[in-house]
Amino acid sequence: MKKTCNKCKVEKPLTEFASRANRKSGYDAQCKPCYNERKRRERRENPEVYRATRLAWVKANPDKVSEADRRWYYNNLEQKLAYRKQWALDNPEKRLWSTAKSRAGVRGIEFSIDIADVVIPTLCPVLGIPLKKNIGKCHSDDSPSLDRVNNARGYVKGNVRVISYRANRLKGDATAEELRKLIDYMECGGVSTAAAA
Ligand SMILES: [Zn+2]
Repeated sequence: MKKTCNKCKVEKPLTEFASRANRKSGYDAQCKPCYNERKRRERRENPEVYRATRLAWVKANPDKVSEADRRWYYNNLEQKLAYRKQWALDNPEKRLWSTAKSRAGVRGIEFSIDIADVVIPTLCPVLGIPLKKNIGKCHSDDSPSLDRVNNARGYVKGNVRVISYRANRLKGDATAEELRKLIDYMECGGVSTAAAA
């Protein structure tokens, strides 16, 4: 039996999906890597909501958590979350590396770099703007972001650089050829050379 994930659209064996009693199929609509990625993103973007949800769940399902777990959640969740937040601020390279790794896993992109390959420069090598050293909850133009220099290749040695979030966003998944055409278009005031050629 196989099932197509509604996120990555890849057909995978049922063991790749978490079971969900409340769904008609009996399985989650998203494969485990996609589901985990989404949960991680939600936790990252909104830790307060996640913490509140988790605490409410622990309170509502005392039979599903061990006594030790329950104690731990009540006593340490606050501290643990603060610690994690601080860890992310103190370890921006590792954070860039690990988020890229999970992204690559979900999208099936080759990933063979080490944390040491992630170097955050003082200035964005594309735009020259100063880069923030740490990564907060939200992205801003000057947040560091891990770029694949050649979009067609994976996170492999020699193909990754840390550039500003803004530069990365502008680049998107464009090819050099496409960007050249875009510049021509912008500088020629909308008179397309492509159409004329
Ligand atoms: Zn998937």
